[in-house]
Amino acid sequence: MTELPARRLLLVHAHPDDESINNGATMAKYTAEGAHVTLVTCTLGERGEVIPPELRHLTGPALGAHRRGELDAALAALGVTDGRLLGGAGRYGDSGMTGLADNDDPGCFWQADVDEAAGRLAEVILEVRPQVVVTYDDNGGYGHPDHVQAHRVTMRAVDLAAERGHRIAKVYWNRVPRTVAEAAFARLQDELAALPFDKSAALDDVPGVVDDERITTTIDGSAHGAAKAAAMRAHATQIEVAEPYFALSNELAQPLFTTEYYELVRGTGQRGETDLFAGVEEAS
Ligand SMILES: [Zn+2]
Repeated sequence: MTELPARRLLLVHAHPDDESINNGATMAKYTAEGAHVTLVTCTLGERGEVIPPELRHLTGPALGAHRRGELDAALAALGVTDGRLLGGAGRYGDSGMTGLADNDDPGCFWQADVDEAAGRLAEVILEVRPQVVVTYDDNGGYGHPDHVQAHRVTMRAVDLAAERGHRIAKVYWNRVPRTVAEAAFARLQDELAALPFDKSAALDDVPGVVDDERITTTIDGSAHGAAKAAAMRAHATQIEVAEPYFALSNELAQPLFTTEYYELVRGTGQRGETDLFAGVEEAS
């Protein structure tokens, strides 16, 4: 294997678009600073609802293939060169929203054996040897089965990799501090009339919102806001962007955060960190 940069960050996401919405500014910042950023996406999101009418004919595998192209374009916008699909393209299917019969499809990610999927992710961890891993909380941020499963698979893979010789120094969950979300939604109400969206989302629609005291780490990615917005725009089937807001297929406006927030759940760190690698020894 060729020599990788000293600082290595691995992020795990459920569908193409989740990486740009949750961590786009963080990914752009760290690639710009010379860190190696690896994104592992678990499904191609082929059950997603499509926004542009001219693309609504895309469903199932055709939508998955299209979204793979969107993901590639998003990663290019963020400067990320190491994007992978867990188990290879099409290994795990999109499970669809909670409660749908789609969740029972034996090929969907929700039905995957956690240990088996975690074993595949552990292989990536052992190859790249990241010091830092980022994923969702145990509710997947907002309860989507694929996001919950991505959480379970990631946490298990971190353990498997440790058993096999690579201990991850720090594991983070994606977060948004409640007061930040509240302030952003208050601004959104004032600006809604000027936006191309008719209605506002609710604070509960934002994944990972928690009380401020749980936030350990703040990444100011405002210098990379344009890259994040470009990456989100690349997911045109899923996202409509009108900075500093965006909407998903429900057409409800929500804030586009260029400062991104994290809760350190494994490893040691200090509240108020402004670097995911703070205190990490950059060993190989
Ligand atoms: Zn998702």
